[in-house]
Amino acid sequence: MQTNFTLAQLADPDIATSEKILRTCVHCGFCTATCPTYVLLGDELDSPRGRIYLIKDMLENDKPASEEVVTHVDRCLSCLSCMTTCPSGVDYMHLVDHARARIEKTYRRPFLDRALRAVLAAVLPYPRRFRLALAAAWFGRPLGAIAARIPGLERIGAMLSLAPSKLPAAGAMPPVSPALGEKRGRVALLQGCAQSVLDPGINAAAIRLLTRSGVEVVLAEGEGCCGALPHHMGKEERAHALARRNIDVWTREIETGGLDAIVVTTSGCGTTVKDYGFMFRNDPAYADKAARVASLAKDVSEYLEAIPLGKPASHPRLDVTYHAACSLQHGQQIRTAPKSLLAKAGFKVREAAESHLCCGSAGTYNLLQPEIAGRLRDRKVANIEATKPDVIAAGNIGCMTQIASGTGVPVVHTVELLDWAYGGPVPERLADRLGASRLASGPVAA
Ligand code: SF4
Ligand code: SF4
Repeated sequence: MQTNFTLAQLADPDIATSEKILRTCVHCGFCTATCPTYVLLGDELDSPRGRIYLIKDMLENDKPASEEVVTHVDRCLSCLSCMTTCPSGVDYMHLVDHARARIEKTYRRPFLDRALRAVLAAVLPYPRRFRLALAAAWFGRPLGAIAARIPGLERIGAMLSLAPSKLPAAGAMPPVSPALGEKRGRVALLQGCAQSVLDPGINAAAIRLLTRSGVEVVLAEGEGCCGALPHHMGKEERAHALARRNIDVWTREIETGGLDAIVVTTSGCGTTVKDYGFMFRNDPAYADKAARVASLAKDVSEYLEAIPLGKPASHPRLDVTYHAACSLQHGQQIRTAPKSLLAKAGFKVREAAESHLCCGSAGTYNLLQPEIAGRLRDRKVANIEATKPDVIAAGNIGCMTQIASGTGVPVVHTVELLDWAYGGPVPERLADRLGASRLASGPVAA
């Protein structure tokens, strides 16, 4: 694609990067067929190619973001399905990140929208605040469906409806979990923010599985939200401040105890941590440290696939439909590891139709765009239920919450099933939903 930026514009490193990205797009439109918003809405401006044109026009002409740009960029899920499809290797992720940051700086949103985004950015990345907010939302939960039908209150309705009916207790985990048996490695595990409140059992399962496999697991003191949630809302400064804190904490850990990897159990966060090198490329104080941290980041399935797990302790005979989170399959290009790990552990693994399409979770998308998110969820759930699974496995808490809100089939994290198969307890959600008799006929001593 031809571009028309002036030399003065190109002196801005962010513009220079976006210009390079824009030039790689050849307008072929292959990406439209796999873009969830284009598939649902059929509007060229809700396709990757349409958004690329809107962003190009905004940047080239040095315009503040218009209502039209905001509408169509806001509807983008950042699912990155378009990047998997694109034959020209267009780096849409960094282009839309730049557009979101520019929208945040140049567009004044209506009051309610601004207030909602400010609240989400001030609450979600902080586990204590998030826990309090969820406890308050519990009282309003019965009103969620009513609010969702009142014009202007749809987003409040979505938030109330997605609040869990019960919250697991906040259990403290030890800062260091030593390897059992011969020590093979040492990793830091991202504790994160929302997942640590919604389902602390996921990281507990990862720690059990890793330590049983000879890996020491460190929960680095002072680490927190990776910055993904504010980053996707265009709140660059806040996202960078959170990321810097984690980079400092992990750098200290690398330089004292040494780390083989930074393991992440939420793929949305993993995509962001792997991008730290790009985020800080123009920051001389952080560029090297950020690149080092990014190079160590691994999704838990990616790390587990590379180490010997031994023989499963049981053969859980359950049909598992694997839901590929967009951040894992498109953001990190990890497609086979979770499925092959589950199959090796003895599960019968299936994948649903349209597995490349987003479930509508996408960070805060299901709260900010509840109508489109709801349609995507229903489509995803129908495809998954058609495979008649005993359980659904996914590698991202956002997808788990979104899909669980539309189905009665239990949804668990891939690592919880693996932990169970290799000697850990039955995942709590599975025990609750399938009942003792169904589970008793599942695991059989090897
Ligand atoms: S597939 Fe790639 S090159 Fe073709 S229009 Fe989409 S982004 Fe541009
Ligand atoms: S990131 Fe997803 S929703 Fe956004 S343009 Fe690409 S395919 Fe469409």
